[in-house]
Amino acid sequence: MSDIIITGYKVRDLRFPTSLDQIGTDPMNLAGENALGVVIFSTNKGLVGSGFSFSNGQGNEVLCAGINALAPRYVGRTLSSLTENMAVTQREIVSGQIRFMSPERGVMQLACNAILNALWDLWAKSEGKPLWRLVVDFTPEEFVRCIDFRYLSDVITPESAIELLKSMEPGKKERLEKALKNQAVPGYNTSVGWLGFSDEEVEAKLRQALDAGFKHFKLKVGLGLESDRRRLGMIRKVAGDKAILMTDVNQLWDVDQAIEYMPHLADLGLWFIEEPTSPDDILGHAKIRKALKPYGIGVATGEHVNNRVMFKQLLQAEALDAVQLDAMRLCGINEILAVLLMSAKYGIPVIPHSGGAGMTELCAHVSTLDFVSISGKALLEYVDHLHEKFEQPASMTPEGFYTSPTIPGYSGDIKEEAFTEFEYPSGSFWKTEQGLKMVNDKWRGVLGRQTS
Ligand SMILES: [Mg+2]
Repeated sequence: MSDIIITGYKVRDLRFPTSLDQIGTDPMNLAGENALGVVIFSTNKGLVGSGFSFSNGQGNEVLCAGINALAPRYVGRTLSSLTENMAVTQREIVSGQIRFMSPERGVMQLACNAILNALWDLWAKSEGKPLWRLVVDFTPEEFVRCIDFRYLSDVITPESAIELLKSMEPGKKERLEKALKNQAVPGYNTSVGWLGFSDEEVEAKLRQALDAGFKHFKLKVGLGLESDRRRLGMIRKVAGDKAILMTDVNQLWDVDQAIEYMPHLADLGLWFIEEPTSPDDILGHAKIRKALKPYGIGVATGEHVNNRVMFKQLLQAEALDAVQLDAMRLCGINEILAVLLMSAKYGIPVIPHSGGAGMTELCAHVSTLDFVSISGKALLEYVDHLHEKFEQPASMTPEGFYTSPTIPGYSGDIKEEAFTEFEYPSGSFWKTEQGLKMVNDKWRGVLGRQTS
């Protein structure tokens, strides 16, 4: 087949009003609007490459502007020129004049991610494979050719990465069979625990989740010990002693506050506290982890960790019990592969952040390939909202495992009807009285300032 050439692109701003159902609420954001900056590359062969990054509503137009700044670079490029050395493709997207805009962190990192996600989607589609299978079928040499090792070589090199991958090859065939039988990636449930839910809603959601086979549950905490103890105690009582409970405070505390607060919850049997403080405070996480260890409470972070260098340092500083990389924040699958390898080297499990629209769809690929090719272990966050907006929605088996994706691509295609209703600001929802009220509230999500 002659080469696939990228002929054009479209960038779209999609915002779901999830705050109306209290979905996405946490101690730092009282009105989370799951939003996506979407890029769709068209080609001369009719195939499209679809990718997106996530934001929480306001500012999604900035993400789209970032994508618009990068996407023209790829028009006229052949797919093979981009995939023959994906490490170079990753290096190039953050290079040149654009480097002053701080790619590898912040909004430009999200924009790079959307572009690379679309390229990986196109690559997997062109190979007729779901993305996880494309990666699993790589030789170790092909695998490391997708990673830019710049800034990592004090911890991992292409040579040591190949050794690590080879050391994981025994048992890979059996792990692949498990993936094909949907027995690779158990889910954990966050949908029970959004902060805006009443106690009754938490209990009803929990009972549904138990019926659906979940054994791990996460609750947002941080609005006071009395309420946290009541809600966690209820979950412990209903879910039983064997259920694994996790907590998340979304960066609310200073380091010493986290160290003071969490022991008061220790008797409830918690696996970890997620994002106890600023995601940039690597040494702070290490201090909290050390202080909470005697109480049996671990530390997790990752959804706001910008890049592979920060993950490298978090691992070097022994600051984490779980690496929660975000498939919509790192620099595409390229950088995810680097973080998966470093986590395996340090023996820390990767439990991707997957708590928003579209994340579960992408992370199903990430955790499956991690399970088969790298760590042999997996656990992945699951939320139950908005899957119906995607052409290849994530789903769970009755036993509580993710269904391994089977359709070629990176599950990036979004149904047109979702844009008709929720594209911003032209979609039908955003023209309603409620939608306009939300659009015009410039302080949406800020305690004491929100007017809608
Ligand atoms: Mg979180």
